[in-house]
Amino acid sequence: MRKKLGLYVFIILLIFIIIPALIVKCFQHTDTENEDNSEGTTIKILDVQHNKALEMEFEDYIKCVVAGEMPATFEEEALKAQAVAARTFTIRRMQGTTSAHPQYDICTDYKCCQAFISKEDRLKAWQDSGVSAADSLLRWQKIEKAVDDTKGKVLVYSGELISALYFSASGGKTENSEDYFVSAYPYLRSVDSPYEGTTYKNIETTITLKDFLTILKTKYPDFKIDQSKVAQNIKINSYTTGGKVKEIVIGNKNLSGREVRELFDLRSSGFTIKLSGSNITFTTNGNGHGVGMSQYGANGYAKNGYTFDEILLHYYLGAEIVDYSTLK
Ligand SMILES: [Zn+2]
Repeated sequence: MRKKLGLYVFIILLIFIIIPALIVKCFQHTDTENEDNSEGTTIKILDVQHNKALEMEFEDYIKCVVAGEMPATFEEEALKAQAVAARTFTIRRMQGTTSAHPQYDICTDYKCCQAFISKEDRLKAWQDSGVSAADSLLRWQKIEKAVDDTKGKVLVYSGELISALYFSASGGKTENSEDYFVSAYPYLRSVDSPYEGTTYKNIETTITLKDFLTILKTKYPDFKIDQSKVAQNIKINSYTTGGKVKEIVIGNKNLSGREVRELFDLRSSGFTIKLSGSNITFTTNGNGHGVGMSQYGANGYAKNGYTFDEILLHYYLGAEIVDYSTLK
């Protein structure tokens, strides 16, 4: 009798507890495997600021890029647009389109790849600037949400990941890619960027005429200019579609706007140049190369009620937003 009871108990246990538990475990295992396939990607990062190698989960890395690239006080839709652009840019890099650091997928130098700041450093920097610990955490959560809400989303053109370049502010109009860089991309066209605000409008950079000439002579040993008629020997010859300097003649040199921007460390190649007394003053509009998405422009669009996808499709002409998993 006791034996029989034991058998009944075992059968009941088997039917109601053990078998369901095994089934659940089996499905959980499958779920975990799927998760590994879609989310488990890690990225190898060269941390230039701390001179060390990092390895992180891919989407966590994107959070650190958004935190480094865009103020958390920007609109949520702008942060989401930034997340999608950064994700697209990152995957292109991971596919091996740079030879600057072949043993790493990407680096933390914004001039080479894109900006990056760890959660720890970001929270500390906010708190150092007077933001409370609680508000700093809320800022980080806002960034996390923007990345999570767009998880896996990337930009494509004709089914291929785009070169999702972005920059700070255009000064009113973005650039055709070939007007600043070399290659012409159909989705990197000059478009209006009307809501950037005044942060990078009419920024003056003044250097002495002596330094101006020394910098030119150092870079171009054959540089010559009539020093009694400097103003008459500086002439902007042409402008890009985006309204920035395309070609400028200084003495015997014919330079591009980009060359002058880099030579004098200007915020933008959208500049005017003026000699007053013994000083040269550049007045720039915009911040960055001007190709692709304007971050301040994205924030302006978001303030005016545009969603992240509308913002992205404005700056990346003819592109589409798809889930990266559909491309594999
Ligand atoms: Zn790099």
